Amino acid sequence: MRTYRLGVLDGDGIGPEITRATVDVVTAALGRGGGARVAWAPLPMGCQAIRQHGAAMPEGTRRELARCDGWLMGPHDSASYPPEHRRERNPSGELRHHFDLFANVRPARNYPGVDSLARGVDLVIVRENTEGFYPDRNMHAGAGEFMPTPDVALSVAVFTRRAAERIAHAACRLAMGRRRRVSIVHKANVLTLGMGLFRDTCRAVAREYPEVRVDDYHVDAMAAHLVRRAAEFDVLVAENMHGDILSDLAGELTGSLGLAPSLNAGEDRAMAQAAHGSAPDIAGQGVANPVGLLLSAVMLLRWLGERHGDSAIQSVGDGVEEAVLRTLAAGVRTRDLGGDAGTAAFAQAVIAQL
Ligand code: ATP
Repeated sequence: MRTYRLGVLDGDGIGPEITRATVDVVTAALGRGGGARVAWAPLPMGCQAIRQHGAAMPEGTRRELARCDGWLMGPHDSASYPPEHRRERNPSGELRHHFDLFANVRPARNYPGVDSLARGVDLVIVRENTEGFYPDRNMHAGAGEFMPTPDVALSVAVFTRRAAERIAHAACRLAMGRRRRVSIVHKANVLTLGMGLFRDTCRAVAREYPEVRVDDYHVDAMAAHLVRRAAEFDVLVAENMHGDILSDLAGELTGSLGLAPSLNAGEDRAMAQAAHGSAPDIAGQGVANPVGLLLSAVMLLRWLGERHGDSAIQSVGDGVEEAVLRTLAAGVRTRDLGGDAGTAAFAQAVIAQL
């Protein structure tokens, strides 16, 4: 039986509170039997790491992560870092780039007992994570933005066939285990070369999956379709910035920002990361909603199960997800959802449901 080594990066703001809650719940689920084993590796990242190691993402943390099968990534408040650290790539961008975590998988669905603007939604946005319109991470060296004069700024977007191919495969494989529909999001009517390459490559890859129904939408039209009929979509595949924007929209349509999970997956490692930020306004109060990170951990456990053909670790993920959903259905809620449970009390309620 394999022991998975999983990093824990608390990060900033509410990070320590939600990572604690997540580690407690997963540890309790592992303790329920089934044989899956995890060794947790706490590693510094964020403000605390700047103070202790002189970098938000210390070299030692990266080195240790290379020895891990995956990790829980807390949020970071990069805007609050001293100016010399703000110039660097932010910690999660750095890890996505360094470990080539090319697929950012962001589900959006309704949760039992949680009010939402859209009903019946169960979709996943598969966002290309390494290039596109994110110039801090789409270059080998340097950033793809420059100012020839104080009044002119140029930002370079990068689209490659290889990146479009692998994200399209990830989307199609995911769709095969779901409702077998992939919608390609782009703006190829304006960015005819870059987004045209993205759309056409996704279409070509999708032909290798004849059971998957494929369509494509301009990103602006997709924003309107999501508001009007999100329930009809299954898997959306999008370049970096479009995927980022649409997943916030989809997350908000289906509930609270505190609920939305995500996984950043590469070929051999994956990083669980809640979709929300470090919420400095409520940090340290013990009121943060841990569900986003908890469900991200579920995605990580399932990813490990699939990658290593290990049903035991997959069942731990299934058990945690069921317990979270039962807890919400039972009316236990944190403050962002109108309840009064604190972070630790919510985690205990989930543990009681395992
Ligand atoms: P970033 O730029 O890092 O995404 P942000 O300031 O844009 O950060 P968040 O940090 O996600 O956004 O916070 C947005 C709002 O949502 C804040 O009012 C915050 O308190 C709330 N919020 C975010 N995450 C949670 C959570 N897990 N539980 C409760 N409230 C949350």
